[in-house]
Amino acid sequence: MNRAVIVICDSLRTDLITQRDAPFLTALGQRSARFANHSSVFPSTTRTSAASIATGCLPARHGLLGNTMALDEGDGLICLSVGRPDFRDRLHRATGRTLHAPTLAERLDRVGETAIAFSNVSPGAAYFLDPDGFGWVYNAAGSYRPGRRPLPAEEGLAIAKGDAGDTVMTERFCEEVLRHRAPAMALLWLSEPDYTGHHSPLGSPEHRRAITSADTNVRRVAETVAALDPTGAGMLFLVGSDHGMETVAETIDLDALLVEAGLKAAAGSSDVVVAPNGTTALLYFADPAGTLVAEVARFLETQDWVGRSFVGDALAEVGLPTRSAAQIAVTLKTDERANPHDVPGHSYIVRDSLEPKDCTGFGQHGGLGSNEQRPFLFATGGGFAPGVYRGRSSLIDIAPTVLRHLGLDTAGTDGRPLPRHPA
Ligand SMILES: [Zn+2]
Repeated sequence: MNRAVIVICDSLRTDLITQRDAPFLTALGQRSARFANHSSVFPSTTRTSAASIATGCLPARHGLLGNTMALDEGDGLICLSVGRPDFRDRLHRATGRTLHAPTLAERLDRVGETAIAFSNVSPGAAYFLDPDGFGWVYNAAGSYRPGRRPLPAEEGLAIAKGDAGDTVMTERFCEEVLRHRAPAMALLWLSEPDYTGHHSPLGSPEHRRAITSADTNVRRVAETVAALDPTGAGMLFLVGSDHGMETVAETIDLDALLVEAGLKAAAGSSDVVVAPNGTTALLYFADPAGTLVAEVARFLETQDWVGRSFVGDALAEVGLPTRSAAQIAVTLKTDERANPHDVPGHSYIVRDSLEPKDCTGFGQHGGLGSNEQRPFLFATGGGFAPGVYRGRSSLIDIAPTVLRHLGLDTAGTDGRPLPRHPA
């Protein structure tokens, strides 16, 4: 069977791939099919993106609606972090299922093939690549073999986020996964430059070093792929990111504003629950058909920090379900001002009471801002011709592209296999 190798450099914006900071990616882009009009999904968060890359579906179809989600576990809606190791089990207990669409790992398992994922981001983002355990998933919080059977600690991935952990993971991925285990699909998800971007200004020396770290790790994988398949006929190699970042301008405490406006009973009440997702928020309602939805929507129209809001049926315009408890999605105001390091793009963010730290001046994402919606995607091998592809593409096209390369059916995905020659 053909093979597919995917590398995700978390949060790497297209315009920050420069000769100075990312010389390998710059050169790789020149000899790849380069998708110049590539976008993330909405919310543009890592966990939602992971589910969309794995399923080829929009959140409306796969059901994972953000880095945080409100669940009713029996005592009314509460906001939970999707990133926590136990979220997958809590979602399954509360709703009877995990993702509502099959992953690449499941589709491969049906034909007796294997998927292996190494991920150095949050456990939630790792596990939603394959939440029902059809393949192998490795993450520092716990690694699983098929059947969601935990691997012993010595076979797991005991690494920290950042350059050092990414490098250990990448070297093992190249040697063990690509050279020896040789699965039909292998995916490597690097923590950089996202990890550093959340703790330092975009374009700062620290952030630029993190971009270079990702660049070096992509080179390690690319060299291994080239050694294993010099003609590129059998191995499809996709390198990209899940979303970009904006610089945080200001933090809005939406819970407090709703309470102050008389629209929410108390900070922890279940009538309307804010699920913060960086530069966007989803609002869940105990009564999704009740009048409170329209009242909150009218309140948001009066707020100068709001970018756009999508209410009820309008959620479909941005790939979100219309019939769930989440009845409003609101993006926060963005602008193209540059930060002190000449990186354009600022956005307001929603305060996250689960992670209440001040990130003003640092990177963030989640919404529809032009920079957070600028991930990159390069394809080599598998018949892709070098060149700039200007048609629209998005994260949901990755799974159908992999399925076509592996000779499998793409039915049930929202995306489409990407063209192998520039239009
Ligand atoms: Zn991410």
